[in-house]
Amino acid sequence: MAHAAPPRPVTQPLPRHSAAVGGLTPFSTVDWPGTLAAVVFIAGCPWRCHYCHNPELQTRAARYDWRDVRAFLDNRQGLLDAVVFSGGEPLSEPRLPSMIREARRMGFRIGLHTAGIYPLRLADVLRYLDWVGLDIKADAQGYDDITGRRDSQRPAQACLTQLLTAGVDFECRITWHPDWLSEARLLALAGELARRGVKRFAVQSARASPDATPAWHLTAPAQAALQALFEQFAYR
Ligand code: SF4
Repeated sequence: MAHAAPPRPVTQPLPRHSAAVGGLTPFSTVDWPGTLAAVVFIAGCPWRCHYCHNPELQTRAARYDWRDVRAFLDNRQGLLDAVVFSGGEPLSEPRLPSMIREARRMGFRIGLHTAGIYPLRLADVLRYLDWVGLDIKADAQGYDDITGRRDSQRPAQACLTQLLTAGVDFECRITWHPDWLSEARLLALAGELARRGVKRFAVQSARASPDATPAWHLTAPAQAALQALFEQFAYR
């Protein structure tokens, strides 16, 4: 059957107007916890987090043809529940709204991973989203040290406000290392998120690579305190 196998990266440069699809995971249960999803990675991100595990996705570049990816998704109708757009920063892609609408028309639920860099673009697609994973990089004091960009907490807070107001299902998550944010500051940040109305929060211990064992672990009392703050708390 045509496009039964996942598409391969293109071998010839795509036209300049092509969507910057940088990667594809055909099947995932972890990118939208509890949901069977294909993950479409958009290449392009204006931030430069020092711990970024996807530096190859920071620069805008089309490595896959969206038409191939779309045909593959079309072939997966009934086999997958959802499509998650990730990155990089997926909202950096101007064609993302139409890509989301195309995936929705195939019957998929739509998830979005975002660092909260583009509040206006998030507002444009919010009504098409079923779930959002919003990165929280640090508290106000530590944000720019992580992202390498000035005043970077401001758009992320605006995105959080939108998600809270829209009532869309979402999770806030943080990649954590005690050298970047002490446990006390993490707990204060989590308390502020809970006060604002965040129901789902996840802490992921920083790793040298995605498959590496974390060098640091949250203490049991800190995990218990976080568990008590949220309806759902995950430590990954
Ligand atoms: S926001 Fe995400 S993709 Fe962009 S630099 Fe930071 S970790 Fe990497």
